[in-house]
Amino acid sequence: MSDEKLNNPGIEIPPELSNQIAVTTLDKIYNWSRAKSLWPMMFGLACCAIEMIITASSRFDFSRFGMEVMRPSPRQADVMLVSGTVTKKMIPQIVRLYNQMSEPRYVLAMGACASGGGPFKEGYNVVSGVDKFIPVDIYVPGCPPTPQALLHGLIMLTKKIETEKLSEAEWYKKDFNEEIPVPILGPDLIDPRKYDVIKNHTFNEDPFIDGGLVIDQKQGEQS
Ligand code: SF4
Repeated sequence: MSDEKLNNPGIEIPPELSNQIAVTTLDKIYNWSRAKSLWPMMFGLACCAIEMIITASSRFDFSRFGMEVMRPSPRQADVMLVSGTVTKKMIPQIVRLYNQMSEPRYVLAMGACASGGGPFKEGYNVVSGVDKFIPVDIYVPGCPPTPQALLHGLIMLTKKIETEKLSEAEWYKKDFNEEIPVPILGPDLIDPRKYDVIKNHTFNEDPFIDGGLVIDQKQGEQS
């Protein structure tokens, strides 16, 4: 928040107090304090992580934005930088870590892989975008994105935070519960939220799914 905004709050201040008091809204103070002290979680998945590490080093130095300490625990972090290829083996751990972060929390998908699978999209072991499982706030394109691009994404995230309103924040609502079921890794990846779709597909109950055997679930017999 600029000094200019603080000193021009839109209400009249007596001249003798004009440089001594600041009038603002709770939303602005709350958003300003959060936006300028984002704590990223320390983890990386693939080549993009190298660029993320460089962004933290002296040449680019994201401590300028109050992010100097990457937290090794999700409980002390409020922004997850998904930097690299998200594999099916890794997504259960990513969702579990996301669930352990406290609200308000944000996710930045760094690079083509995290945003949509990248060069490995449709690969047998790759999730085509982390947003298939957790909500993403900012996407940073590139393969890999440069440190400057990551910094731009982080600045965009702070701008997004500055528009939030305490009265509308989901995480303060009574019944808010955004725990995401951890995907199950077997021969393939199962998203528990899609049990019905998987079941319908497996038993070919969906009339729009062509071909295959029609199995009577109760009898377990071919019909
Ligand atoms: S987007 Fe490119 S640089 Fe980043 S993890 Fe994927 S392949 Fe590596």
